[in-house]
Amino acid sequence: MTSRTGSAPRIDLHAHSTASDGTLTPAGLVGAAFDAGLDVLAITDHDTTAGWAPAVGALRPGLRLVRGAELSCRWSGAQPAVPLHLLAYLFDPDHPELVAELARVRAAREERGERMVGLLRADGIDVNWPDILAGAGGGTVGRPHIAQALIRAGLVDSVREAFGPDWLGERYRLPKEDIDVFRAVRLVREAGGVPVFAHPRATRRGRVVPDELIAELAAAGLAGLETDHEDHSPAEREHVRALAAELGLLVTGSSDFHGTHKTVQLGAFSTSVEAYERIVAEGVTEVASG
Ligand code: AMP
Ligand code: ZN
Ligand code: FE
Ligand code: FE
Repeated sequence: MTSRTGSAPRIDLHAHSTASDGTLTPAGLVGAAFDAGLDVLAITDHDTTAGWAPAVGALRPGLRLVRGAELSCRWSGAQPAVPLHLLAYLFDPDHPELVAELARVRAAREERGERMVGLLRADGIDVNWPDILAGAGGGTVGRPHIAQALIRAGLVDSVREAFGPDWLGERYRLPKEDIDVFRAVRLVREAGGVPVFAHPRATRRGRVVPDELIAELAAAGLAGLETDHEDHSPAEREHVRALAAELGLLVTGSSDFHGTHKTVQLGAFSTSVEAYERIVAEGVTEVASG
């Protein structure tokens, strides 16, 4: 594959827009990827494909777009269940069962967000749900939107602080009604998509799943592991890379860009051409190009 710059192609397979909790619109995200010199961008908003059409509409020559999503999942093999994220690439966005499951998760996120705001208000913290919902602008709502309300109210200084244990990281965090991860892998494959486990070893975010579970997911149809991600330490990256090699899974690297909701920049980590081409070969939806 050719690159826009003549050097190695730059492939970033994980980014968020205002269709979920990023701060750039889908079109703005595509423009930023073009300006950053990327060759391939994947749009992977939480539990939605709403950003796909406007992102495709904004494509520019030389930039390719992998249409995807990041599914909110859980593994019930531990108590309480461990939340985890599954990237799904190039699936049929009209697959009825998957569409219904994503709609259910988005509705459950709204209900959960409202309950989290109720907990904050019960402690006398002045945030309100209508403002937070408006702040999400119709996109999939999540803790980053509540974090922005805490910042607006002057209660915390940064997103990092808002995700600390005294706030949304623990004290006011409620579980979501996530998709069972085995069901999610099966649904993504049924919809012709390619499932990749997002930041599987991100211990800094909380509990992670055991390697045995990843082996079971590989047997159930998982295609790959996101290895190079800012939430993995160098040792965690090496561990995930070795596990992927052992299980015959592909490895990806990506920024998980969220605009100004996070500090990481587009293209901060990237995926090899070989892994990208495996994903493209396995997915039912075409890569879009400008
Ligand atoms: P939710 O899906 O509502 O549970 O919120 C999780 C989202 O918050 C994910 O998209 C993460 O990218 C983001 N997030 C989690 N931890 C942090 C953090 N420490 N700083 C900034 N964003 C975070
Ligand atoms: Zn997010
Ligand atoms: Fe994630
Ligand atoms: Fe993400």
